[in-house]
Order: sequence, then structure tokens, then C-alpha cells
Amino acid sequence: MPYLVDPRELEALLPGEPPFRADQLHDWLYRTPVLTADEMTNLPEPLREELGPRLWPFTVETEQSADRGTTKKWLFRAHDGMAIESVLMGYSNRTTLCISSQAGCALGCTFCATGQFGFDRHLEAGEIVAQVTYANAWLRRHPIEGSPERVTNVVYMGMGEPLANYRRVRESLRRMIEHIGMSARSITVSTVGMVPGIRRLAQEPWQVNLAVSLHAADDELRSSIIPINKRYPLAEVEAAANEFFESKGRRVSIEWTMLSGVNDTADQARKLAPIARRMRAHVNLIAMNPTPLSLDQPSSRSTIDGFAAVLTDLGVNVTIRNTRGQDIDAACGQLRVRAAT
Ligand code: SAH
Ligand code: SF4
Repeated sequence: MPYLVDPRELEALLPGEPPFRADQLHDWLYRTPVLTADEMTNLPEPLREELGPRLWPFTVETEQSADRGTTKKWLFRAHDGMAIESVLMGYSNRTTLCISSQAGCALGCTFCATGQFGFDRHLEAGEIVAQVTYANAWLRRHPIEGSPERVTNVVYMGMGEPLANYRRVRESLRRMIEHIGMSARSITVSTVGMVPGIRRLAQEPWQVNLAVSLHAADDELRSSIIPINKRYPLAEVEAAANEFFESKGRRVSIEWTMLSGVNDTADQARKLAPIARRMRAHVNLIAMNPTPLSLDQPSSRSTIDGFAAVLTDLGVNVTIRNTRGQDIDAACGQLRVRAAT
């Protein structure tokens, strides 16, 4: 499977072929990806036939649309049957793909559907990158009206904790930047606060963005909804995020899923404000997407507005995010629900 091979070593897949073949294949895989090997017009027929059935490291199990065709969700099946989900969202100025980095997640956050189902395995770098190239190949055939015809932005906000799969996620970033040709600045790694991973990412040569899923502003509350907080408490997450900011000069964003009666109080907003100011971070508020296995419920719009107002008054930059794809379970934290039920 060509996506499971290091893109610098494609010759190994092409014994007896002239050296330029690897460059041609490289372009079809990364630069101008196509859905089927038949479309790789400059490759000889027998090679196209051989590549055909093993081009993608997964099969497409379902493809769903929402938000009048501007949101698309794929459920892929890896060769061993694991579910991999990606969500494509078209906007006027960008086309964003939300990708998965693990099949499942071991961290068990109470409000997250992925977390409730536990961990199956890490995704390979090639399985992570092929989500992006598949979306690019698909967009060539089915552009989203009014949006860029390529994936312009990638967010690691699908299934899994990217910094718990550091080595493969790092390699997936390298392939997106060096082989697909994406700008590091258009890629965002989202983490629940894996402190060693944040520190390593800060030392990488790329100007990627970091989003930290904070969701609570004191350790007692945070540990009750995000178990890994007991290992990496807030102060350590904050210190690591500051190190990231200092080393990259890129502002970190704080993600805050609004859970009714849990973390949407004025008290939490007042505790969050100094943390956000010290981190020089932008806060994104998003109403929780209800999932069947969680008792948590989304905050009301007026509560979210009130929470945002407290932060603004205390000098914090804040945005209220709209959710996409709720009706097809494509929104944050909902991935894997349908696949498993
Ligand atoms: N593991 C990483 C990235 C994947 S989750 C992380 O936790 O950051 C991506 C985002 O979706 C995180 O901010 C996460 O807190 C959020 N999320 C999880 N469950 C959610 C839900 N039910 N509703 C809204 N956001 C949710
Ligand atoms: Fe894992 Fe992120 Fe879900 Fe927590 S929110 S269980 S870290 S995927």
C-alpha cells in the first residue's frame, strides 16, 4: 500500500521501473491525488492495474453530507477493520479537514464519544495523511461550491489524542508539509494537555498551531471530566503551552466545550481569564454535542453568551464557534458513535 511507505522511498515499490517513475507516483499520491489508479495517466497500464486495489490504506464505508453539502463525513475502514473518521467543512475562505490520529482514545474524557469507547490502536502516519489526500482527490471531482477546491486547513480534532501517538503524528505533519506542500501555519494539533508531547512539538521545525482542550480552570473540576489531568495538572499544561508560544511565536488557542452546569459558570470564566491572559491565548467556546454515553448536556446559548461576556470584560479574546454536521454525528466528540452502535 503506497501510502504506508515513506514517500522518500517509493522506488522500493517499483522494481524494474525507471527512476522517474517514483516521482510520477509521488505526485499522484501527494501533489495531485486521484481517487483511482486508472487516473494516473502517465503510469503504464500494468502498474496502474497493480496499484488499483491497494491504492488507499482504507476502504470507504460511508460518506454522508450535511449543512447543505458544505459538510462531509467519511467513515473509512482500515485493512484490519478499524474505523477512521474524517470530516470536511467548506467555508468561503478555507476548506478544513478534521482528521483522526488514533482508532479510539484511551483518555476517557466524560463528554467525548470517542473517549467512551476506549482505545483500539494508533493510526500509522500514512493512514493519517491519506485522510487528507483522499479529501483532496474527492474535492477534485466534487468541489464544494464557494470553497477552495483543496484542503487548505487541517485540524487534528477527530478521533484520538495526537500527542499520545507522537512519532506517527510527527511523521504525518512532515508528509503534509514536505510532500503535500501544505503550510504548517494552516495545520492545528489539538491536545487534551499531554505535557511531554507539547514540549516536543515546541521543538519541531514547523510553525504549526496548537489548540489546548482546557474545559476547566481548576484541577478539581478538570480532573473530574478529564482523567489525564491527574497526571498533567493545569499548571503544567499552562507552562508547556507557554513554552510552545515562546519557542514558535504562535498563539495557542484554548478550546472550551460548554457543558451545562459543569464548566459554564461565571466562577469558571473568572478563573479561566487569568490563565488565558498569561498564555496570551484565544478562547474558543463550543456548545457540547450531546452523545449517547455521556450524561453531560450542552449549555444554552444565553449561558454561553454570558460566559463569553465575562471573559471579554476581563480582557480575554473569545469566539463562540458554531458546530457543524451535528445531524450526521460529524461534530467534535461525536465521531465513532454510529460506527460502534
Ligand atoms: N484528543 C484531542 C483531539 C481530539 S478531540 C483533544 O482532546 O483535544 C477534539 C476536540 O473536541 C477537543 O477540544 C475535545 O474536547 C472536543 N470534544 C470532545 N467531545 C466533545 C463533545 N461531545 N462536544 C463538543 N466538543 C467535544
Ligand atoms: Fe480523547 Fe480528546 Fe476525546 Fe479526551 S476529548 S477522550 S483526549 S479524543
